[in-house]
Amino acid sequence: MFEKILIANRGEIALRVIRAAREMGIKSVAVHSTADSDAMHVRMADEAICIGPPPGVDSYLSISSIISACEVTGAQAIHPGYGFLSENANFVQIVQDHDITFIGPTAEHIRIMGDKITAKETMKALGVPCVPGSEGGVPDYETAQKVAEEVGYPVIIKATAGGGGRGMKLAKSADELETAFRTARSEGKSVFGNDEVYIEKYLGAPRHIEVQVFGDGKGKAVHLGERDCSLQRRHQKVFEEAPGPSITPELRDKIGKTCADAVARINYIGAGTIEFLYENGEFFFIEMNTRLQVEHPVTEAIFGVDLVREQIRVAGGLSMSFGQDDLDLHGHAIEVRINAEKLPNFSPCPGKITAFHAPGGLGVRMDSALYNGYSIPPYYDSLIGKLIVHGRDRPEALARLKRALGELIVDGIDTTLPLFHALLDEPDIQTGDYDIHWLEHWLETNL
Ligand code: ADP
Repeated sequence: MFEKILIANRGEIALRVIRAAREMGIKSVAVHSTADSDAMHVRMADEAICIGPPPGVDSYLSISSIISACEVTGAQAIHPGYGFLSENANFVQIVQDHDITFIGPTAEHIRIMGDKITAKETMKALGVPCVPGSEGGVPDYETAQKVAEEVGYPVIIKATAGGGGRGMKLAKSADELETAFRTARSEGKSVFGNDEVYIEKYLGAPRHIEVQVFGDGKGKAVHLGERDCSLQRRHQKVFEEAPGPSITPELRDKIGKTCADAVARINYIGAGTIEFLYENGEFFFIEMNTRLQVEHPVTEAIFGVDLVREQIRVAGGLSMSFGQDDLDLHGHAIEVRINAEKLPNFSPCPGKITAFHAPGGLGVRMDSALYNGYSIPPYYDSLIGKLIVHGRDRPEALARLKRALGELIVDGIDTTLPLFHALLDEPDIQTGDYDIHWLEHWLETNL
């Protein structure tokens, strides 16, 4: 096993990895920008090294600085967390060229899944059901018209390199197609450097259901059930739960097996998430994320496993510590994402934390890098914490979430916490009756 690993990330996810490493007796190296000298991950790691100025491109995305930090500290492996370089195949290749282990999938798998067209083609060939749409890329507007007619309106135009909810445009009817097609292309080009787009049937009221998979890289893989991440704002998740309120044990076993078999066949290594839209009892693949997800703790809660520990194990050449038969689902877990944002516009709200108190008690987990007096820098993602609760069933988890939210104090800045207080009073949230559009509609009338 590794003696020392470097975490190429910041914030709560850096803490998450440091914690797993420490429990395994592995030393951790934090990297940080000059804006993050006082950050919690720097304080908590065994060693810390400054890798550049505040902007992400000059620090957390600087491949050469991160490789140098590994060389200087003697770290044998890199955990990328999520975001930043976690799904950058080029980075993975460079890491390996320096005889450093990347804690995650192979560059090839990241490349395949990072391009949504190739990802869909691969998944389709592996027997995973996909959203109906174009066969591969749509090169011009004339083809787009033809495909959209065949698929049937409404359609969604997606940039193959898109992510984070960007590079996606809806065309409700033929007269909206040209604008949607051209803006998806130009957004793909300007944000992701790739103007290739494809077309999908736009589903009216689906739920976002994603399946957690884990492979050993040698043809063995398991699934750890699903998460329902339908509560989204601008295609970004804000509230996630596991198991999905609409998924029966039979459905879970079936889609779970399909996913586990698919990743086993490609010798996938480490954690991955296969995302679906789920409507009228049917699953439609949209994309695969080849990394640990923000919302992984809800899965950890119901299965009682440590996914980061498992990632480090398989990267270090050990076998997986569980097989499919060892995985029993217990109870219900919910996560809320706490962002430093001001309602109702969700505008970023960095600044100094004048008081912070994390909730506690049975079934409560708070993953956050906040502390009293900490100043949130303005350069990075606005996620400042995740509150995760686990209960014996969904009603207990909801009651626990309400109780824990009541204990949590984050003073000095605006956060998205009032949103969750309000959501918990909604009958649809209490019953689990929501789809991917529910939150947007609710925000329009309630904020
Ligand atoms: P990203 O990579 O940007 O996260 P995804 O393809 O995962 O993009 O889609 C993000 C979200 O956009 C989904 O969770 C869903 O809410 C919505 N979405 C994507 N594809 C469709 C579709 N075909 N029909 C309806 N909604 C969609």
